[in-house]
Amino acid sequence: MRVANYQGRAVLMTSDWTGLDVHDASQGVFGPDLPAVYSRWGEFVAWSPAATHAGEAPITIDKALLEAPSPAPQQVFGIGLNYRAHAAESGYGVPDEPPVFTKFASSIAGPYKTVTLPPGGHTDWEVELVVVIGEPTYHMSAADAWSHVAGVCVGQDLSERISQLAGPAPQFSLGKSFSGFTPFGPYLVTADELETPDDLEVGCMIDGHVVQQSRTGDLLFSVPRLIEHLSATLPLQPGDVIFTGKPGGVGLGMHPPGYLQPAETLTTWVQGVGEIEQTFVSAWWLVSRDYESTNGQCRWG
Ligand code: ZN
Repeated sequence: MRVANYQGRAVLMTSDWTGLDVHDASQGVFGPDLPAVYSRWGEFVAWSPAATHAGEAPITIDKALLEAPSPAPQQVFGIGLNYRAHAAESGYGVPDEPPVFTKFASSIAGPYKTVTLPPGGHTDWEVELVVVIGEPTYHMSAADAWSHVAGVCVGQDLSERISQLAGPAPQFSLGKSFSGFTPFGPYLVTADELETPDDLEVGCMIDGHVVQQSRTGDLLFSVPRLIEHLSATLPLQPGDVIFTGKPGGVGLGMHPPGYLQPAETLTTWVQGVGEIEQTFVSAWWLVSRDYESTNGQCRWG
């Protein structure tokens, strides 16, 4: 099952770009928005095969109007150092438990939006598999954890490296929470749609040049283990979002480092889930500033 957030309403997808308004098709039982659907996720899943029987006319989806599949979670978790190869290249080695931070919910954005680059210009890309929780989850064992997942999405943990690494100790949350820095989508895809939910190819490219490509089978802490770890400390709620960590290949690790530039297009995918796309503009006040402009040249040669 694939569920979209289309202009604030829950839409059950019936093909790539058509779907049924959940509230209308259920005669007001579910929805109208996705947070309301998550609050009754188990009942919704049980009802969903009957959705087409209501005879509602399908909606044609304009992808520019899609919003994030969980637009107002109580909690958004970010995970650091979670790919084997990336942990090794970062010099930290393999952690005993995953570093956890947040991306503040006001930075959540739809899957096909324009993002304004903050002053400084050190905005980096991080392809990530995103998990949305479907059931109240507390002290959950990894063995049972997938049953509490509503579904997964494609995400970008956009990160401004200057503010992330400034200060006496690195602090991740603010530098990852500029407006529009938490895009995910294009839909919520339930795990039963995926042949290998624990081993999905993930990647992203800038103007067609692939910069990150890996598989979630390389995660040090799998989706079930992350849920076990997080829910050992605090309760997870329906609609909560987990960014599961990035593989290697980010701009910070390039020699020399390279960051997102105005007018570039970032395309991000997860196998079997879909893709999202961000375009970037500079803040108007950047025009007169010293700035690492590419002057329209393709920096990939
Ligand atoms: Zn990340």
